[in-house]
Amino acid sequence: MSTLSLTSLHAIESVFEGVTFGIVATDKQGTVIFSNGAAAAIIGIDQEPVSLKDWIEHYGVYLSDGVTLLPAAASPLVRALAGEEVNSLEVFIQNQLGSGRSKWCSIDFKPLKDENGEVAGALLLVQDVSERKRLSDEVTRSNLALQQFATVAAHDLQEPLRSISGFTDMLAQYQADELDDKSRRCMVKIKDGVTRMQTLINDLLAYSRIQTTTQILKPVNCDEILANCAKTLNASITQHGATVNVDPLPVVIADGSQLSQLFQNLVGNALKFCAVDRPPVVRISAQRRANSWLFSVADNGIGIAPEYTERIFRIFQRLHNTTSYSGTGIGLAVCQTIVDRHEGKIWVESEPGKGSTFYFTIPEKSGGKT
Ligand code: ADP
Repeated sequence: MSTLSLTSLHAIESVFEGVTFGIVATDKQGTVIFSNGAAAAIIGIDQEPVSLKDWIEHYGVYLSDGVTLLPAAASPLVRALAGEEVNSLEVFIQNQLGSGRSKWCSIDFKPLKDENGEVAGALLLVQDVSERKRLSDEVTRSNLALQQFATVAAHDLQEPLRSISGFTDMLAQYQADELDDKSRRCMVKIKDGVTRMQTLINDLLAYSRIQTTTQILKPVNCDEILANCAKTLNASITQHGATVNVDPLPVVIADGSQLSQLFQNLVGNALKFCAVDRPPVVRISAQRRANSWLFSVADNGIGIAPEYTERIFRIFQRLHNTTSYSGTGIGLAVCQTIVDRHEGKIWVESEPGKGSTFYFTIPEKSGGKT
């Protein structure tokens, strides 16, 4: 917010009526001299003057725990009149004024200065953030549920699978002479099913971990990440006779382990979804943009039809059965989550039969999400 004088505030009063956030201006004593309709709806502005000392209790302003009244010294009005300027103070407001509905609010406040630059009052901008808060609480709850699921999946679901696998091996060993070809084929199918289920559980676990693990953001050298990625994928590179070209890459602020996983999934897919008539050629590049780095992983593989380019980033969305190409349909959902958590974007451009290029951005100063 830039410095505002009382005179200019009155001059633009009519504009303030149309906005959705509450605006309250007070004089030096904390008496309201202007408030718009949104302020009346959000806080419930009283026509009677309320003394500075009673302000918090009168308007029912609570700390973010929702039950403790804001200490008088922390009152936005008191602080603004003392010359302080603060953005996004989150409080819980509960009173019988206005709509009477309790709500979570974010308050920006600053002193109002007169022509001589002296504090002549206070300006409060109040936003009802109840819906945003509800969604963020819901995300926290579902992350917790996901974490609990991950723990159950890791132990309880893997256990019966290990039993099935173990008893199938024992049957094959003890009954080796009595089993005919048909029975042996059935046992191979059981073992394949078990292996697939174990892979699915492990991939789901990796997906849930990406969603719930706190990020560690620090400078990450992408050249080193790609060198490690090439080592991890060495068997697949050799098996496909692939050429992997890596252009010079930058150092970015990111979670190193998540960025490794991201490149590994994209390069792994570039090798896996290769055309039958040519060996894979993969190129990894980066370009500097205004406030971010744009990375690309390009291949000369089978490509993706335009109608599927968004769907493939959703969990379990695959365009092929597991006989043609192995996989669980979780890799790109993991990539999407990693990029989201770095506040970037991910997308693909592709020509069926010719190849695909996956792009993603990492903001120069990635905020990350906990
Ligand atoms: P998975 O690799 O386990 O199938 P992903 O989530 O990594 O799962 O990918 C989802 C789907 O997107 C794949 O099954 C495939 O159909 C398509 N896909 C991903 N990467 C490529 C690529 N480089 N070329 C062609 N298709 C791709």
